[in-house]
Amino acid sequence: MNALLNSGRLLPLLGVLLLLSTVGWYTKKIATNYVFDQVAQRGQTTLRLTVESLNGALGRYRSVPFLIADIKDVQKFLASSASLPLDNQINHKLKRINAAIRASDIYIMNDQGLTIAASNFDSNTSFVGRNFSFRPYFQDAIKGKQGRFFALGTTSSKRGYYFASPVYVNGAIKGVVAVKVSIDKIEAAWNISNHEIVVTDKLGIIFMASKPAWHFRSMIPLSDETKTALKSTRKYNEVLIQELAIVEEPDASSDHRMVNIATNTRPLEYLVQNVPMPVEAWNVHILSRTASARAQAYTIAAALLFTLISMILSATILLLRRRRLLERIDSQQEARLQLAKRVKERTYDLKIANSNLIEEISERKLAEEELKKTQADLIQASKLAALGQMSAALSHELNQPLGAAKSYADNAAVFLDRDRIDDARKNITSISTLIDRMASIGKHLRNFARKPHEQTSTVFLNNIINDALEILATRIKAIDAKISVELPREELWVVGGQVRLQQVLVNLIGNSLDAMENLPQPKVEIKAIRNNQYIILSVRDFGAGIEDEAASQIFDPFFTTKGVGKGLGLGLSISYNIVKDFGGELSARNHEDGGAEFVIKLNSQSVKSNETII
Ligand code: ADP
Repeated sequence: MNALLNSGRLLPLLGVLLLLSTVGWYTKKIATNYVFDQVAQRGQTTLRLTVESLNGALGRYRSVPFLIADIKDVQKFLASSASLPLDNQINHKLKRINAAIRASDIYIMNDQGLTIAASNFDSNTSFVGRNFSFRPYFQDAIKGKQGRFFALGTTSSKRGYYFASPVYVNGAIKGVVAVKVSIDKIEAAWNISNHEIVVTDKLGIIFMASKPAWHFRSMIPLSDETKTALKSTRKYNEVLIQELAIVEEPDASSDHRMVNIATNTRPLEYLVQNVPMPVEAWNVHILSRTASARAQAYTIAAALLFTLISMILSATILLLRRRRLLERIDSQQEARLQLAKRVKERTYDLKIANSNLIEEISERKLAEEELKKTQADLIQASKLAALGQMSAALSHELNQPLGAAKSYADNAAVFLDRDRIDDARKNITSISTLIDRMASIGKHLRNFARKPHEQTSTVFLNNIINDALEILATRIKAIDAKISVELPREELWVVGGQVRLQQVLVNLIGNSLDAMENLPQPKVEIKAIRNNQYIILSVRDFGAGIEDEAASQIFDPFFTTKGVGKGLGLGLSISYNIVKDFGGELSARNHEDGGAEFVIKLNSQSVKSNETII
């Protein structure tokens, strides 16, 4: 409960319950009123018809005593006998009339109220000889009025309505004619279910009722005076009049008069309507049973309430749905706005990034151009540097022998002047040697002047190796070097030029021999292997290997670690370029077991035909 209260759900719940019960109450009231109105309407109609038929039924007899009193024989009969002579003629006449008009009884009383002739003269309950002077109808008629009275017959114990008229003989009232009408038959027509019809006299006593149990019951409390009056007129004989157990039941949901009447069974509720019959001073009531009307009202109220609740629920659901829809639309709108905002932001970011990129690209382009320019400058500079380097090296290489040759020539001239012919010859021989050396430089330099992409063809490597070794045979022998050649079984044909490749091999093997000059057992290993379409040719020696500082420069022109006059520093540079021209590669490294190893990678072809051999 506390949780409910805390959660704030109880109050709206109570509110809804209160609203529903209020609406329910009003709905019930409306439905009950509606149904009861219909019941009342029907009751009113029934009541009207009942009164009409009652009036009609009794009205038929109203003038009968007057007419009988007008009969000459009757007047004569009353004029002649004031005592009790049986006059069968009158008795039979009354009997015939009674049969014709279907009344209960017709009888004639003298001015003392003694019955002197009656239609039932021959029955056990004959009125003849009985005195009815106590009856109000007699008392009225003897006074010259038209008497009418309802009473329970003292002889027959049957309820009846009495009409009475005075009988005038020569202007004086000599007796009274009375007609008793039975009301049982009238009542019989009222025995219709769902309502009760009741007729009360002016004292409120029921003398006619569709429900026989209610006969002679009072609808209102009886006063002592009333009881005395009843006794004197012996209206209802000796019948003890009891009050009907009526409880007024005012119903807030209905504008009609409602009562509860308990008879032998449980109390039943009735809707009461009445209409007076002023002539007889009667009241005709209709008591309509309300049980089925109430059930009908409940059903209608329940249906109305159900419809109302359904409508409220439907409306609530519709409203909730609408609200949810609106919320969804709102959130979608929000999302769209967010998206649009994000897109805008991103677009802005992208624009900035784009412009940055464009800026960067233009900067890159500028940098690239700068770089290209720098590269071009560098190339130019390095070309110049190389040219300068080469010029310096050349001038050094040539100036030195030239200087020496000049000295030798000068000395030779001095020797000749002094006739030292042998010395002069020696000098001239030295000059010749120097000139040879310079010529050799020139020869090497010619190689630089070669066309870079001179025609290549497929050459037979095995022969080239042999030729190179042949050329170097003297030098090999001089240091007693061991040469091992290890070749695969196949004939090795490579892309190149015979003379130039031979020159490369002579240079590499020559360098190896140079490197092992001072070794006791110099050895050169020449190996060739195939690696797919390449032939890998290596020349390895067992010398000191390439010096660390020299490693990066050995392929540069004029780089040499050999002593003055020994190396030109052109061999490897030229060899590198030749192999490159063949589409191959020349590389150098120190063997892990010592010594230098030069590797030539050449393209091979399995062509063994009569190729042009250069
Ligand atoms: P050069 O033989 O006239 O010196 P190269 O161009 O043939 O010119 O060689 C350049 C240098 O490379 C050599 O001076 C030497 O230092 C180094 N070099 C070449 N071959 C070998 C080798 N087999 N062992 C050690 N050093 C070598």
